[in-house]
Amino acid sequence: MSTLQSALERASAGERLSREDALALYTDAPTHVLGRLADAVRARKHPQRIVTYIIDRNVNYTNVCVARCNFCAFYRPVGSSAGYVLGFEEIFRKIDETIAVGGIQLLLQGGHNPDLPLTWYEDLFRAVKQRYPEFKLHALSPPEVIHLSRLSQLPVPAVIDRLVAAGLDSIPGGGAEILVDRVRTLLHCLGKATADEWLGVMRHAHRAGLRTTATMMYGTVETLDERLEHLFRLRELQDETGGFTAFITWSFQPDHTELGEQHGVTAEATGVEYLRTLAIARLVLDNFDNLQSSWVTQGGKVGQLSLAFGANDMGSVMIEENVVRAAGAAYCMDEVEIVRNIEDAGFIPKRRTMHYDVLGDPIFRERQVPRMLELATARADGDMSMPSELVNYAARSREGKAARHQQ
Ligand code: SF4
Repeated sequence: MSTLQSALERASAGERLSREDALALYTDAPTHVLGRLADAVRARKHPQRIVTYIIDRNVNYTNVCVARCNFCAFYRPVGSSAGYVLGFEEIFRKIDETIAVGGIQLLLQGGHNPDLPLTWYEDLFRAVKQRYPEFKLHALSPPEVIHLSRLSQLPVPAVIDRLVAAGLDSIPGGGAEILVDRVRTLLHCLGKATADEWLGVMRHAHRAGLRTTATMMYGTVETLDERLEHLFRLRELQDETGGFTAFITWSFQPDHTELGEQHGVTAEATGVEYLRTLAIARLVLDNFDNLQSSWVTQGGKVGQLSLAFGANDMGSVMIEENVVRAAGAAYCMDEVEIVRNIEDAGFIPKRRTMHYDVLGDPIFRERQVPRMLELATARADGDMSMPSELVNYAARSREGKAARHQQ
């Protein structure tokens, strides 16, 4: 029997796949067969045909970053006139707008800004929780936690404990890219977190009782086998901790990135490759309950198709997006559109929490909410104002110190 044949049999029987099986399927199985296999796993795990989504807001508190990953079009170097830090009041306003459309949490991530010490995050989280006790903070991907650990000279578990005490509810799985150090070196992101360091933060978070998500950005310089290594490392940690709620994958968006403009990696992965990758993830990650569709990078139609390739969740209604948009792609769908896509594909839409607890039917069917036909941005164009509370926090960089003295 060929390797492909035995891999197909194992996948059809719902058995755990080996790396060899996964590679044979990823390389050689027809796309519709991968879809059928992944859909069978989705149906086993979610037999009620419910497809969930969350209403939250993707807020990037700063775009200043010392990591300088070459696939990133979002960051600005320290001292750049286009660098920003959001003020607490601006973040409260964003929370008010989120709550107005039925939102329940912020997905809060940002650059590695040397001029924001750990106390800034703690004060922000406490202020949010004091004003909005029920509102959730899904915040700070593993590389941001590592950055804070280095900046504060505290070990990662101590940083996590302090953030949790201040109000952190869960950790998003950003910054994973591909969890293989050869790839991370080429993407200039090994310094922000090695594969082991990324997984180490998640291990500590899970041990501290937090749930987190896991992600994969593919389509840069990695091989198919390295994508699989990424998936197998996630599966291994999930076997150990069970702390991941969901997996999300998206393709590299090349516009305005150093990797695209200076290193010639300009081809964007196709929708078919996305669907194949999603299906393989569903088959390999047999210990993950939830796979999200990445419609923000793929568009509504591929997002809808992903429900036939293993996804059982449409991710976030989003409201705001800055990172993907900076790299030339960001589709927008409000709750009405997401629900239409789910129902047209034959599923039942339900709102959920970050923990995948179902909250109810679409909010727009319960009460009137404003339509959102365009994603918001972190700030209005040209607004470079510095929040007044920043003077209370010690800056690390020369430029940051100078700016605070001028305030
Ligand atoms: S991906 Fe994140 S860490 Fe890397 S440069 Fe962009 S903002 Fe900084």
